[in-house]
Amino acid sequence: MDGNARLGRIATGHGTVETPVFMPVGTQGTVKAITNRDLKASGVTMILANAYHLYLRPGDALIRDMGGLQKFAGWDGPILTDSGGYQVFSLGTLRKIKEEGVTFQSHIDGSKHFLSPERAVEIQRNIGADICMCLDECVPYPSTYEYTRDSVGLTSRWAKRCRDAKDGGPFLLFGILQGGFYKDLRIQSARELVEMDFDGYALGGLSVGEPKSATWEMVDTVIDTLPHDKPRYLMGFGFPEDIVEGVRKGIDMFDCVIPTRLARNGNLFTQNGRINIKNAKYVRDESPVDKECGCYTCRTYSRAYLRHLLVSHELTSFYLNTLHNVYFYADFLKRIREAIGKGCFDQFYGAFNARWKGGETQDEYSACNG
Ligand SMILES: [Zn+2]
Repeated sequence: MDGNARLGRIATGHGTVETPVFMPVGTQGTVKAITNRDLKASGVTMILANAYHLYLRPGDALIRDMGGLQKFAGWDGPILTDSGGYQVFSLGTLRKIKEEGVTFQSHIDGSKHFLSPERAVEIQRNIGADICMCLDECVPYPSTYEYTRDSVGLTSRWAKRCRDAKDGGPFLLFGILQGGFYKDLRIQSARELVEMDFDGYALGGLSVGEPKSATWEMVDTVIDTLPHDKPRYLMGFGFPEDIVEGVRKGIDMFDCVIPTRLARNGNLFTQNGRINIKNAKYVRDESPVDKECGCYTCRTYSRAYLRHLLVSHELTSFYLNTLHNVYFYADFLKRIREAIGKGCFDQFYGAFNARWKGGETQDEYSACNG
């Protein structure tokens, strides 16, 4: 049997997305160093934009007045926005959490802002997102049981206010499970959100510095509490080894800055793991990054040339490397979906783990959130 791996479809106002799906992250309304035309040609179906960043600059009202992010940014496919909560908790300074919402200072200019659940939905509506996320409190790791328990209560109350604020809006709204690393609190969070009947459910508060085994334990804890007919989204996870593991456990959606951020440092994905193109052993390597890859970079350039561009700090290096990693991910997810469709995901999973060595750079890139 293929574990919990499953195929699905998410219908949005800008097209249907086949799952499992990986969303490249377009923090500022652009996936760094690549055009939307290339994303589309690479097989990317949905992108993520960060409400926090777009709210601060250029502002959600401006994006609304410019016809929404699809028109403003020239992307005609589905867009998912995060609520801004994660960035408020990770980037905002001097934040104060109250029942009404959270007050924080901008990381750009120190200006003071207030984000309520209702405002979080309004910002995402103004941006024009097809899938919006509820405002949640992302608790740090580790946190005490008492703090986490109170936070789950607050996240559930905020989720209800977000649902009320949706008010028939033409977008899907996902609830975000919290509960830290306490099984009973995770289950409580899942039950309270499922009761509110959201369009999908995200697992939040993970990838915050915990050991990987703790992450998967929390996924296993809640997965059966979530309805079968709604998408499940593991926020901020995106190494290929995380994706195959998540899919096997019944996760449908992933996002991460990893493929694009690593590309800019010369870390490129291949069928056998990651390589760093900066490595001196590629100086005269005439082969493509990945012989099996059909992307423009691999069809056109050698490892030696890509290495030359990177060490020469040529801007084209960002583009060509990003194009390869984005294509690699879209193709990887396509092959996962095909394997599930054929009923052979278990074989795919076994073959992947046998081949994948983690690459040459088992390095500092553990945090996956934008
Ligand atoms: Zn390629």
